[in-house]
Amino acid sequence: MISKKVKVIIDYDGTLTYEERDVAKLAKKALKDLAENILHLPEAKLVKIYEQTKQKILDNPTKFSWVVNGLPACYAVEGAFLLNTVSTQTMLRDNRKFTKAVTKFFPKGDYGPIVDCTNYLFHKHTFGIVPQFREKTKEILIQFIEDKGIEPYILTCSKGDKVAKNLARLNIGTDVKPNSFKHQISIFGDTRQYEMDPNWKYFFNHSKHGQIQTIPINKKYSIDLRRSDYFKKLKKEQADGSRIIVVADMVSLPGILPLMMGMDFVMIKAQYVPQWSIDFVKSWKNGWTINNFLELPKMVDKIMNQWFLDNKL
Ligand SMILES: [Mg+2]
Repeated sequence: MISKKVKVIIDYDGTLTYEERDVAKLAKKALKDLAENILHLPEAKLVKIYEQTKQKILDNPTKFSWVVNGLPACYAVEGAFLLNTVSTQTMLRDNRKFTKAVTKFFPKGDYGPIVDCTNYLFHKHTFGIVPQFREKTKEILIQFIEDKGIEPYILTCSKGDKVAKNLARLNIGTDVKPNSFKHQISIFGDTRQYEMDPNWKYFFNHSKHGQIQTIPINKKYSIDLRRSDYFKKLKKEQADGSRIIVVADMVSLPGILPLMMGMDFVMIKAQYVPQWSIDFVKSWKNGWTINNFLELPKMVDKIMNQWFLDNKL
């Protein structure tokens, strides 16, 4: 007997929040910090270099990825925060003086000086931003929390404390920071969907492409599947027999493994989501897209009805 429990795992940045609106604040704070404390040059000069680098990436969207452990984790143009991160990384890599200064500041860490630097800037400065939640985020989360058949979770590559702090603004409590709010939700923090593992021996079976570690999207784009950390976390959530629906604003980081593992994946078509990724998600039987966050409860209903029709429940 398969469990009837349904876990709806909802990404945080860009899914619950207007990432496209918050990114300007993030960039401003991060560039100021970088200019003043790490690179020691006038902020205006760095902003100019940053804007030029960002334009170069937008002009060549297939060429720029967020690279972790030598493997592409996602394309730079897949998210507003991501474009900020990869623009900063590219700018630091392309300028020898910048690389030297960053190496001095982050001598030994998890992913090398440049990625460590951008991770540091991201965590530090998104923590300080008051996010703009998408329409009815609070009501929809509460609806899921109160639904007896659904267990909602929040998924994030950020640290759980940032998400906990911001959900408290909606009077929603979390397991990261216990409090007395009536409504509580669990956070899967620091899930490292970007943690690429070049030594991972696992191959996925795909009906058309066979045994693969990278999946082609079209002639220009592909996504690397070697994300052993995220894979283990999803497996763990599946272990009790729960059905899983993952909801996010991007396919590469949070979406591709759920799709490959037969879970349902819902992608919100935020302003920055590229058309190729929308077409790709739609091509899966277990892939769905919604125009905005308001459409999520209906989509979850639709997926659950589909399961009954397919006798999967
Ligand atoms: Mg996101």
